[in-house]
Formats: sequence, structure tokens, C-alpha cells
Amino acid sequence: MEISKLFDDVTRARIRQPQPKNNWASNAGWARECIRYAVLIRLQPLDLPAPSLQQQRIYDEGEAQEKALEARLQDAGITIEARKATKFWAMPKIEAELDFIISHDGERALLEYKATGELGFNHIRKLKKLTDLIRSPHYWVRHYADQIQLYLKMFNEPRGILLFKNRNRNTFHQIDATLDDGWTDNLIEIFDNVNIYVANGRLPERTEKPLCQYCGFYKKACGDLDHGKIDLGQGTIKL
Ligand code: SF4
Repeated sequence: MEISKLFDDVTRARIRQPQPKNNWASNAGWARECIRYAVLIRLQPLDLPAPSLQQQRIYDEGEAQEKALEARLQDAGITIEARKATKFWAMPKIEAELDFIISHDGERALLEYKATGELGFNHIRKLKKLTDLIRSPHYWVRHYADQIQLYLKMFNEPRGILLFKNRNRNTFHQIDATLDDGWTDNLIEIFDNVNIYVANGRLPERTEKPLCQYCGFYKKACGDLDHGKIDLGQGTIKL
């Protein structure tokens, strides 16, 4: 019996190629920074490599962390009002799945949970406000800010919390979020534009940004990027 191999067999069986029919609220950050990404994932999802075994291990760990957090919230006397609630907006075709809505002592908040390693946590714990996140040099940190803003709008919740866990030390850092209609209007407009591209079967121009090196479409759908061309204006949010 080789336990890690048996675990990996289960993990491997869970690997799915994403083929979204709608826009995902969790992709709002990508859409803001590169509308081509948001159109590609709707028109050519098979150009995005399927998650590797290692990526799937990380997704599974995220699920396990969320389950553990649920018990921990309840132990702390926090009421879980909703867990994994979903929302779909027919226009502009956005779907979302939140982690939790919680309440305590008369306060209520949408809670989005991210467990991370030591390095990522050390960066995040220096950030205090959502606007600090959006200025982070790390794309995944910036995208958390867009994600929770859109969730707040879609679930009609005025307040939210991004809760980060340092997996190595079992410590937490919280960033509060307040719904900003200007921010979400901008994201919704970007998804409106995504839908127009998708309806016409067209792709926006490629852009060359530092973000491209982390993008799953980099090789297949944007493989011959012109490295001399830089577009910094697309989808910029005014803060
Ligand atoms: S590789 Fe760059 S241009 Fe192409 S979809 Fe990804 S982020 Fe956009």
C-alpha cells in the first residue's frame, strides 16, 4: 500500500478542463487586466492547459482548508448564514460562488477565504486595504480585490472580508471590503464587452504585459506575442 499514490489517484480523477459557458466572477481580475483572456476562456477554453496534478493538489487543499475553516468559525461563535451559495446574472452572463456569508454580534459580511504559504502571506499581511491589494505587484493578489468587489455586488452584500491564512503558522490576516459601485460598474462593463466579442466570435488584440508570463493562454493562443508592444490602458480602474 502506497498512500500518497492512492491519494494522487483520487486527485487525478478530479482534474477537469474548465469550459465556462458564462463569465466567472472569480475571473474579473483577469478580465480587467486582459479582456482577451476573458474572451479566450469563453471561445477557446481548450487552449488553456488542464490543471496539472500539482495544481489539482493545491485546489483540493483549498477545499480542505475551507471545510476546516467552517468548523473553526462555528467554534468561535460565528454564525454561518450561507456556504457555497451561487448566483447567476443573465446579463452580462456572470456566475459566482461565494465561500461564506457570516454574522456575529449584529455584524454581517460576505467572507472569501484564501490559505497561502509563508511567502505569499508575508506579502499580504503588509496590506491593509482593498486598494493596497489592487496595487500589489502580484497578479493573484490584485485579482482577489476584483473578485470580492463583484461578489459583494452580485450577492447584494455591503460588507465583505478577505481572510488570509498562513498555512505554515496557522495565523490569519483580514482585509475588510466595502462595496464600491464605481469599481463594480467598471467590471460589469468589461464583461459586457466580453459578451460582445464572444457573440461575434472575435478575439480582442493581444497585449504584452508582465501578466502574460503567468497566463495559461500564453503558449497556445498568444504564442507569438509582439514583445515590443505594451498596452497599459486596457480595463484600468480609477481608484
Ligand atoms: S497571454 Fe497575455 S495577452 Fe494573451 S490572454 Fe494571457 S494575459 Fe492576455
